[in-house]
Amino acid sequence: MQRFHCPACASEIWFHNTDCLHCGTGVIWHSETGGGSFLQLSPERRHCANRGVIRCNWEAMAGQDLCRSCRHTTVVPNLSLPGNDVKWARFETDKRALLALLDALGLPLEDASGAPSPRFEFRSDPIDPSAPRVLTGHADGVITLNIAEADDAERERIRTQMGEPYRSLPGHLRHEVAHHFWQVLVQNDPQRLQAIRNAFGDDRADYGAALAAHYRNGPPADWAQFYVSAYASSHPWEDFAESWAHVLHLLDGLETATAYGLLGPTGLPSDAGALLGVSMERLSKPWINLSIALNAVNAAMGHSSFYPFVLRAPVIAKLEAIRSLISQAGQGNGAS
Ligand SMILES: [Zn+2]
Ligand SMILES: [Zn+2]
Ligand SMILES: [Zn+2]
Repeated sequence: MQRFHCPACASEIWFHNTDCLHCGTGVIWHSETGGGSFLQLSPERRHCANRGVIRCNWEAMAGQDLCRSCRHTTVVPNLSLPGNDVKWARFETDKRALLALLDALGLPLEDASGAPSPRFEFRSDPIDPSAPRVLTGHADGVITLNIAEADDAERERIRTQMGEPYRSLPGHLRHEVAHHFWQVLVQNDPQRLQAIRNAFGDDRADYGAALAAHYRNGPPADWAQFYVSAYASSHPWEDFAESWAHVLHLLDGLETATAYGLLGPTGLPSDAGALLGVSMERLSKPWINLSIALNAVNAAMGHSSFYPFVLRAPVIAKLEAIRSLISQAGQGNGAS
C-alpha cells in the first residue's frame, strides 16, 4: 500500500479512513483504473451507500449507489445479529485493499458482460448448531467467506487447531481470489495451462480425494522443500492459490515497505504495478531481508512473526510462474 495524505491539511491518512484524524475533514477515495486518490467529501462527491453501514470510504460509481468495491458484494450477512456488521466491515476494508491491488496489477475485475467479477458472499453461520456451517471457498466466480473469521479470537482458535503459522483476512482474500483467476486466466488458455501445470503439477488429480488424503495423513515430511505452506502440498490448485497469495503478499509488502523507507536503496520501483515487472528471484532478496528484520522486531515486542515462511528456490520458481502469468495477463499499469 502507498501512503496517503489529507487533501485539506496534508496529514497522513490511511486507506480505510473516512475522516482525517488531524483536521476532521471527511475524505473519499476516488478510484480510477489502476489507481485513485483521496478527495474531500463534498456535495459534488457522492459517497458509497455503504459508508454509514460499514464505513466504506469509496466514492459511489457514476449513476449508482455503490462504489467499485461494494458492487462486487452480492450477499451480506444478517445484520440483525449483533456483531455481524463489525465483522462484515472488517472484511470489506481488506477487500477494498485487495481490489485496489488487483486493479493496480492490471487484472480484470469485470466479466465479458461488464458485470463485477469476482463476486463476494459474506455469510455467517446459521444459529441452529446442527445446520451446515458456512465454508470459505470459491466456485465459479463466487468467493464465499465466513465472517466468523473476522473475529480475532475465533480466527486464532482455527489457526491453532489447523496448525497454521499464519491466518489473516488478507490471506483468505488473496488465496480465494487466486482460484477465481485460475479459472479466468488459465483454465481456457492451453499455453498458460501448460506453463502452470509445468510449475505446479497436473490439476486433473482428483481434488476431493487429494484434500481428504491431506487432512487424513498430513503433508509429506519434506513439504517445506517444495511448497510455501503445508496446505499447498494438498493439490496443484491449492499450491497455485497459496503461491498466488504469496506473490500478492510480496508485492503489497514491498510497496508498503518502500513507501515508509524501510528497504534502503534497492533500485526497485516503488509501486506494486511496476514491481510486477521485476523477477521474483530479485524481489525475494529484499523481501527475505525485510522479513528477518521484522520477525525480530515482532519478537522483541512479543508479537507473532511478521512472515513465518521460508522461501526456498523451488518455491521462488513457483512464485515466478505466478508473477509471469499476472504480468502477461495484466492490462498494463506499468507492468512489463
Ligand atoms: Zn486533514
Ligand atoms: Zn463501498
Ligand atoms: Zn483454496
